[in-house]
Amino acid sequence: MEVLKNVEMALEKDLCDHCLGRLFAQLGHGVTNKERGKSLRIASAMLVESGKERKEVPEESDRCVLCGDLFQELDKFAEIAADELSRFEFEDFLIGSRIDPEVEEREESLWTELNLTTAEPINSEINREVGKRVQKKIEKEVDLEDPDIKAILDTRFDSVEIEISPLFVYGRYKKLDRGIPQTKWICNRCRGKGCEKCGGSGKLYETSVEEMIGEPLRKMTSGEDFILHGMGREDIDAKMLGDGRPFVMEIKNPKIRKIELDDFEEKINECEKVKVLSLKEVEKEKVQEIKQARAKKTYRVKGDIEEPVERAKFKRVLDELRGVEISQRTPSRVNHRRSDKIRKRCINDLELESLDNRQFVIRMTCEAGTYVKEFVHGDKGRTQPSLSEKLDVRCEVKKLDVIKIHYLEGCDEYEEV
Ligand SMILES: [Zn+2]
Ligand SMILES: [Zn+2]
Repeated sequence: MEVLKNVEMALEKDLCDHCLGRLFAQLGHGVTNKERGKSLRIASAMLVESGKERKEVPEESDRCVLCGDLFQELDKFAEIAADELSRFEFEDFLIGSRIDPEVEEREESLWTELNLTTAEPINSEINREVGKRVQKKIEKEVDLEDPDIKAILDTRFDSVEIEISPLFVYGRYKKLDRGIPQTKWICNRCRGKGCEKCGGSGKLYETSVEEMIGEPLRKMTSGEDFILHGMGREDIDAKMLGDGRPFVMEIKNPKIRKIELDDFEEKINECEKVKVLSLKEVEKEKVQEIKQARAKKTYRVKGDIEEPVERAKFKRVLDELRGVEISQRTPSRVNHRRSDKIRKRCINDLELESLDNRQFVIRMTCEAGTYVKEFVHGDKGRTQPSLSEKLDVRCEVKKLDVIKIHYLEGCDEYEEV
């Protein structure tokens, strides 16, 4: 058998049991590489042809030519890692390692020499064996998929580097004041260093929804930085009302992971401008879900018309536009940021809330990504049809508020309007 020939060849090398067993790691499971190595030595002594003399079980090498006896240091590595980990707060962890590249090279050339396809790389074994020992020491679980924290050992220098996974908090925010951007708006002239244009602050707006929620969370968790991932964004001068806009706040490098979100919610809500609700801790996958969701939105639009329009006519025009698909060329106001193309969006619902001489308030529900202002004023014909075109009068948006985002948390389907 091919395997037996390989084992015989491997036995001729001065290897420790770990390194011998690891060459055949993919054969049989439920045992450690050390046990596998030892068993191969025993088997090789037992599998002699009948009639021949009994063979002595070969000894493990006391100077392994592959690892240089790295496996005798497992307890020490575990102690170093456990020590470093104990300075942080986490539920589960993972051990990683950096091995001397010369050892890895020796390992790979041995695989080639013996023509092996059953081996496991040395760092996987180090990670697993150190992980088991650390798990026992600190009484916390190893998590291979999504650990709170990683301890990366460097076996050459007996050092360890800690990588803390970000913390993700889901919630919905309301913005009750105009003039606040959703995210930090870095000054484009100085790129955040501070200059005349931004008055030395490095930012074009004093604060943002991101900062008002993220900064207190960063402090609570002793984190390094934060990023708000929103389900779309409203204009700076639009309010975000109703039950808010879903978001995930990512906190980088949090030293503390256990936080009382109820207390935090209360604290944020003392502020008049931004409020939060439905806060909860989530996995990082939630960021993708939030980013990809295509939820319909309902807006309240306050606008002016150049000439008075009869109420009946206004209502008739809204009736005509309800359920219509509109074509929007990239608006002139965002043209410098986005490529010029045509998008089609559906206007699901339109209601007249009030009409008073030259001022109107409408409530409209439309598909994600509709340019609402352009739908109202027509953007010089770039959006068709538009309210302005249908009313045959110039329209201007004065105030725009988002009053509902039709997204049911935890559901793939979106609420029907
Ligand atoms: Zn070895
Ligand atoms: Zn600046």
